[in-house]
Amino acid sequence: MNKVRVAVNGYGNIGKRVADAIKKQPDMELSGVTKAHPDYSALEAVHKGLPLYAISNPDAFFEQDIAIHGSLPELLERSDVVIDCSPGGIGRANLAIYSKYPNLKVIFQGGEDASIAPVSFNAQSNFEDAINQNIIRVVSCNTTALCRILSPLHDLFGIKKARVGLVRRAADPNQTKKGLMNAWYPTAHFPSHHAIDVNTVLPDIPITSLAGIAPTTLMHGHMVFIEFTKAPSNVKEIVDVFSENKRVFFVTTKRGIETTAHIKDLAHDTGRSRGDIYEVCLWKDAMGLDEQGELGMHLAIDQQAIVIPENIDAIRAICNLADKETSLRMTDESLGMGRLKIDPLLLTV
Ligand code: NAD
Repeated sequence: MNKVRVAVNGYGNIGKRVADAIKKQPDMELSGVTKAHPDYSALEAVHKGLPLYAISNPDAFFEQDIAIHGSLPELLERSDVVIDCSPGGIGRANLAIYSKYPNLKVIFQGGEDASIAPVSFNAQSNFEDAINQNIIRVVSCNTTALCRILSPLHDLFGIKKARVGLVRRAADPNQTKKGLMNAWYPTAHFPSHHAIDVNTVLPDIPITSLAGIAPTTLMHGHMVFIEFTKAPSNVKEIVDVFSENKRVFFVTTKRGIETTAHIKDLAHDTGRSRGDIYEVCLWKDAMGLDEQGELGMHLAIDQQAIVIPENIDAIRAICNLADKETSLRMTDESLGMGRLKIDPLLLTV
């Protein structure tokens, strides 16, 4: 079988993780990655043996003795799919470049406006909508987490209304020029764009959201409240929905996982590359149904990791390489998803 050749344009926080994940897929080949500047991560890419291409100024790389394979157009020439991992908002300018290659399929990230692609994608929610498309957009980290939780609950119990409060991380750990030191920064929009973005994937779910930024780099936190049309009779029914789902990871304060710091610590201790958590984390013992049957739950989201499996499934969908079930299984196995459950006892309390 010919492997699909995939280019990653923008070897940053998301791009480097997507590149690593592509290398683990039996049906894909990483045709190359691009860098704007010849910095330490360009060197790291070369050191790992990744074919490195310059986005615009190849001479800057030659001057630093960093071996590149060529320019972005040369990489696109050698690729079937490009994953655009450029900083949010640059995608539309890049689309003008990609459109010069009529057979090239394009996957954008959640930092782009939804109008950039006919389909906004979440693997579990709408894999089939992306099959054989030419351009799709993998939704953001927050939207991915919400789709993974809301979609199966809606299928089973019907969601009358979901309300979400988002505590967003101020910056990624390497973004030293961005962030909050010591404040709560409420985003001045109601609803925040997150609810609107969920509806690009799941248009039938009534949802609203409020967001703000907190001084942390580790993970996002969500407080989710859901009213159902047929309320479950107990929390176990909710737990059962996700217990076999490898993209949802139950954590519990009863094993000392009280904060996002403990989740990241567990990911590092269990040998996850970069301490990445591809799963959406759900506190099992902090979840409840009130007297009216409304569900309340806390989620934690590793912003740099959660969209990585979705990008891999997005490639399979647009290239029609596998059906949804097969793709999700291959992706989950290749990334070791579900294996954070180091001990069944983590789950049973
Ligand atoms: P980043 O800043 O870490 O990386 C972007 C990379 O693109 C850098 O290596 C930069 O040099 C390169 N670049 C600069 N100009 C470019 C151009 N014109 N074309 C191609 N590449 C260019 O950004 P990131 O955090 O990896 O985000 C990438 C995308 O993923 C954005 O749309 C973002 O919204 C989305 N996203 C980010 C996160 C997150 O938490 N970091 C989570 C989910 C989705």
